[in-house]
Amino acid sequence: MAKIIVSDQDLAYPLPHQVEQVKTFQTNQSLFADASQRLEKALKYVSISEDAIQRLRYPKTSLSVSIPIRMDDGSLRIFSGYRVRYDDTRGPGKGGVRYHPNVTLDEVQSLAFWMTFKCALLDLPFGGAKGGITVNPKELSKSELERLSRGYIDAIADFIGPDVDILAPDVYTNATIMGWMMDQYGIIKRQLSRGVVTGKPLTLGGSQGRDAATATGAYYVIQTVLPKFKKIPQKTTVAVQGFGNAGSILAELLDQAGYQVVAVSDSQGGIYAPQGLDIPSIREYKTSRRGIKAVYCQDSVCNIVEHKIITNQELLALDVDVLIPAALENQITIDNAATVKAKFIFEVANGPISSAADEILTEKGIYVFPDILVNAGGVTVSYFEWVQNRNGWYWTLEEVNQRLQTKMEAETEKTWSLAQELNLDLRTAAYVHGLNRLGEALDAKGTRD
Ligand code: GLU
Repeated sequence: MAKIIVSDQDLAYPLPHQVEQVKTFQTNQSLFADASQRLEKALKYVSISEDAIQRLRYPKTSLSVSIPIRMDDGSLRIFSGYRVRYDDTRGPGKGGVRYHPNVTLDEVQSLAFWMTFKCALLDLPFGGAKGGITVNPKELSKSELERLSRGYIDAIADFIGPDVDILAPDVYTNATIMGWMMDQYGIIKRQLSRGVVTGKPLTLGGSQGRDAATATGAYYVIQTVLPKFKKIPQKTTVAVQGFGNAGSILAELLDQAGYQVVAVSDSQGGIYAPQGLDIPSIREYKTSRRGIKAVYCQDSVCNIVEHKIITNQELLALDVDVLIPAALENQITIDNAATVKAKFIFEVANGPISSAADEILTEKGIYVFPDILVNAGGVTVSYFEWVQNRNGWYWTLEEVNQRLQTKMEAETEKTWSLAQELNLDLRTAAYVHGLNRLGEALDAKGTRD
């Protein structure tokens, strides 16, 4: 039995009362074993050395730490934390830190693996890394959470740095936590070091546009792809699973652009209205920390449109044009892939589709745009933040979004062309594209043996 975790990214502090429910899924292999299958498949289409391939099959460094924290009631609790640097050939390790009760080394390693390919695909001068602490943050007071975040940095400080491995927000971590982490690193090193963490508060050197970057990047991918199929927003229906930072902002961007967002959900369930939902009012409800199904629909606001309360499974099987999993890992598996009716899937969550489900969706002729492309807007603006920190010269929101758009469009087009050229599904094409860059760098660096 392995776990799946919520992937609402970059939530604003304070953390929601309703931490998304932990769910489990049956699998007979680890998340990393499943993730590795994407690499094995893509390897058939690249010509990189056997040495480079061997190195990409294993993480470079895996660190497990125990973090002792004095709780508010005076007791001592020990938390488990991890940091995996999967590869740093193309630049320092880069990736978020996840706080969740089900964090394990296997999961952190998988996420670090995905970061490696994501950064290569977007041609960012970074390798891939990820961190996590096994904790339910809703059970901690703000000061306990701060001590835990500082304790994590105490434990891993020798293994991170602006030119070594750079942290960022992920599930249930946010700008406030990044600020504490940067400060703690500075205390240990006795030197202000802004570039060790991205996704910081603006006042501490964060970048404009970073909080919305995952959603904004996904929006640019969607806007690049759908015109190829002559789909116009007004005639395109969309279902979004997961209403955290990325899912909710993306739903709003699509709504503003004229798409018909007909279904949204959180961990408790969702709502479906064939004529389209009032996304801004649902976002307002969510920020007041109430569940979409439980509260929103019992209130009169929801009655302005005819709607149905649906489960997450029903949302995934809706007859819509576009499906956006923006919540949990392994949502579409061998068990429910056959029920998916959407023509296009854009993965905003990391790893929402299992490798076996991929095969079924491809056979059904569904276009799956993979996580390492679709949600790469977050790390791309993290890169912009790191560049701004190094230069001490800060960009406007327009400049950030303009550069983000250029990058997302360019790499989407390259992935698309490669898929056409080699007759591949889009995920394999994205891996091939990233692998070509990684292989070149690994071969250029050579080996010491
Ligand atoms: N946690 C985000 C991701 O999975 C962002 C990582 C970063 O900005 O380094 O891509």
